[in-house]
Amino acid sequence: MQQRIGVGLIGTGYMGKCHALAWNSVRPVFGDGPKPRLVHLAEVDAELAARRADEFGFERSTGDWRQLIADPEVEVVSITTPNAFHAEMAVAALEAGKHVWCEKPMAVALADAERMEAEARASGKVAMLGYNYIQGPMVRLIGDLLAAGRIGRVNHVRLEMDEDFMADPGTPFGLKSLAESGYGAIDDFGVHPLSLLQVLLGPVRRVMAHLSKPYAERPVQGGGRRAVETHDVASILFEMDNEVSGVMALSRTAWGRKGRIALQIFGSAGTIVFDQERFNEVQIYEAGEGTTAGFRTVLAGPQHPPYDRFIPAPGHGLGFNDLKIIECHELLRAIGGEPARVIDFTTGLAIERTVHAMAQSHRESRWVEV
Ligand code: NAD
Repeated sequence: MQQRIGVGLIGTGYMGKCHALAWNSVRPVFGDGPKPRLVHLAEVDAELAARRADEFGFERSTGDWRQLIADPEVEVVSITTPNAFHAEMAVAALEAGKHVWCEKPMAVALADAERMEAEARASGKVAMLGYNYIQGPMVRLIGDLLAAGRIGRVNHVRLEMDEDFMADPGTPFGLKSLAESGYGAIDDFGVHPLSLLQVLLGPVRRVMAHLSKPYAERPVQGGGRRAVETHDVASILFEMDNEVSGVMALSRTAWGRKGRIALQIFGSAGTIVFDQERFNEVQIYEAGEGTTAGFRTVLAGPQHPPYDRFIPAPGHGLGFNDLKIIECHELLRAIGGEPARVIDFTTGLAIERTVHAMAQSHRESRWVEV
């Protein structure tokens, strides 16, 4: 009989829907591993939970996430709630003997991330974070090119992550401007470029950061204005364990930028250029090509796994939700004891420590060791 795995999903907003699509698609796309059984879904109230369970194909639903954790038929839990809930939910799920797939970042406070990591280690269960951008076929190709020495010895890396969802000064004060949600750009999405650095070039050793608030206040719905507590922009110098130097620039107020994670990796024999806004392609410059030297653009195709599992035709392109399907497949591989491309809670904690080092560096105007 086909092996099954019981799935629980907490939260059904932006990421919750992505996880639900991934759980529904992972088997048709990859055709291997255990078949997900969508057992239990939790939302803030029973009515919303029931509606979403019907839409997403879950067998039962609850307005109390602790009931989902207590369900013996749930073996793995997707946590897609706001950051402030991650620690409590992940620790409870691990204590109950479930595997966990938790959205990034791990937690707002470093102590909570440390608690999550300790619990994951003690439980022996798989605890994975939602760092979807490491899963792109072209990001895997970049890793292969680096490993093959195609651009020689890497000496410098530049990363930019820009979006414009906070660019309008008229955007009302909300959760993203509240200190309870975190520092701002560095933990809300700076963790994504850090995940790319981690898988492509390894850990960051020390950072020097400057955070800024393009808008000191925002209008409050219903009248008045309120001082913004988070930093929408960050500029960071960093040095990696392997001596590679780097620059990272982050902005949530960059008009026109929608999902830019621009990566330039400079080596002794070439350069690799990638941007998540055009993640079905990568550019490579290899030194020594004489008069025809120039960047070549390579389009994603079935020769770049796991593109081939989605479509046989090159250049047709994967989408954001496909990254989540790949991530779900890697999670199932990890649960099955196979080698998997995942950022687990231990590597995730190193990313969180880097973020907190950035915040400390800004406060103290100095380099901080991670
Ligand atoms: P969202 O507001 O769209 O969705 C959050 C959902 O959680 C909502 O449906 C809400 O009702 C539900 N929820 C809140 N408290 C709950 C509770 N106690 N019990 C059950 N459900 C509850 O938020 P989002 O944009 O999906 O962000 C969720 C998480 O995903 C955040 O940690 C965020 O950082 C992360 N995220 C990751 C990516 C990525 O690329 N991996 C992108 C966006 C957001």
